[in-house]
Amino acid sequence: MAVIPDDLLDRVWNGSILHKDVYYLLKKIPSFKLFSLADELCRDVNGDIVTYVINRNINFTNLCVGTCKFCAFRDDNGYVLSMNEILGKVEEALDLGATEVCIQGGLLDGVGISYYCNLLENIKSSYDIHIHAFSSMEVFHAANNSNISIKNALLELKKAGLDSMPGTAAEILVDDVRKVICPGKLSSDQWIDVIKTAHRLGIPTTATMMYGHIETENNRIEHLFEIREIQKETGGFTEFIPLPFLSKNTSLAGHCSTHLEDLKMHALARIVFHTHIKNIQISWVKLGKKLARLSLFCGVNDLGGTLMEENISKSAGGAYGERMVPQEFESIISTAGRIPKRRTTLYQFR
Ligand code: SF4
Repeated sequence: MAVIPDDLLDRVWNGSILHKDVYYLLKKIPSFKLFSLADELCRDVNGDIVTYVINRNINFTNLCVGTCKFCAFRDDNGYVLSMNEILGKVEEALDLGATEVCIQGGLLDGVGISYYCNLLENIKSSYDIHIHAFSSMEVFHAANNSNISIKNALLELKKAGLDSMPGTAAEILVDDVRKVICPGKLSSDQWIDVIKTAHRLGIPTTATMMYGHIETENNRIEHLFEIREIQKETGGFTEFIPLPFLSKNTSLAGHCSTHLEDLKMHALARIVFHTHIKNIQISWVKLGKKLARLSLFCGVNDLGGTLMEENISKSAGGAYGERMVPQEFESIISTAGRIPKRRTTLYQFR
């Protein structure tokens, strides 16, 4: 059975793993050895602690001028929440102990920066809560519609109360793939520009990757290395979240990942990002509680949030519910022999 060469292992531990090393690991090394390495790296960085956050998703609209083929959320006969409805959801979240609201929506026709700022200001003027909001695509859309630079759009959003941003809309940072799955979306370079600008302005973000559609193994590796390069430059990513493509109700025929592939994806992320990104999160809403528990042996140290409501994965066939109470997180983590800790968005412990 193939063993991991010492020089490759050295590069993993000192954070300088190469593209060809990842390829070697995927082709030559059995999955259980990858899991074991990822687990060792994870424990080295995070000990036995596994985290989660009490948060609430708010998808303020599912109307969208976008044309992403993997999207089942957009609806031409959809809704736009009123400000009162949004504030009501924030209040409910706070009553349930939330420290974060995660706000994202479709791209409303012609809507500019003042719409997004108004939303933030209304929440911040009434409530003390961390606002994790707006993908790079939403920022790009708002800036374009208002004819201002990405930097100025982000400055206005920050001033209005934006605390951090989701790293969504990254999909796969390879333009040949993006041209097929989301032809109208911002390019890889534009996504990177929004994210780096946010980091430089002191707005941390998560990083994501949507996999399991038409991309190749090589595309996934390219994506991971692109994220690692950004992190080396800015240090602004709080965590990395692999997101498997769910195909129901979408116009994109993808092969969809197996659970073994899902676990390998998380393990690989831990291995590639060692010394760069401390937190690897699993999306329980896309992959379920059983796989979430298993992933804690494959390099994952964060289970994400309670969400309270979830519309995007549910529209695409997600079958694992949209709410998880803190007791369930604690039980999943404890029964895996780890120590549960509630965290804030920016990984401070409560
Ligand atoms: S993924 Fe977002 S931008 Fe793309 S169509 Fe769906 S809602 Fe619109």
